[in-house]
Amino acid sequence: MKKINVVAGLFLSLWLVSACAQKDAGTTAATGDSALSAARTRALNRTTFGDTLVKTDAEWKKILTSEQYYVLREKGTERAGSGQYNKHKEKGTYTCAACGHPLFSSQTKFESGTGWPSFWQPLNSTAVQEVPDDSDGMLRTEVLCIKCGGHLGHVFDDGPKPTGLRYCLNSVALNFVKNQ
Ligand code: FE
Repeated sequence: MKKINVVAGLFLSLWLVSACAQKDAGTTAATGDSALSAARTRALNRTTFGDTLVKTDAEWKKILTSEQYYVLREKGTERAGSGQYNKHKEKGTYTCAACGHPLFSSQTKFESGTGWPSFWQPLNSTAVQEVPDDSDGMLRTEVLCIKCGGHLGHVFDDGPKPTGLRYCLNSVALNFVKNQ
């Protein structure tokens, strides 16, 4: 019996190591910010979303506009240049349009020229979750609200200093709370 337990434990360990390796394969490289890098690793190792604000599709449809639902729940993308926060320059905090969770500070927003609001860093280590995304024939890293799992956009490695990251988000997935 003891021998069986040892063998089972060994298989479980191997499986966990291989599962983590697969999850890490599609992520963006860490670029020196150890806190965010650690946050990324933690997020990738989660099996459920942060505080797990879970609603049914019907419940989300009651709360969100059809465009918000398309982006946040169906992982859609708004047309470039169409969003209200693309060229928005006020000082404050961008929050999740679905659940209100604080996501990005205006202090890390920059003009990427892409037509989508872009940031070089999330607000903190419990703002977003990042997961590999191989849809549309590309390997990208998807950015989700860590609280409700709503799709926000993607993160790329071609951003400005100090992180070198570009969080490319949909305006429709965001709300804005102005600094007092
Ligand atoms: Fe959210």
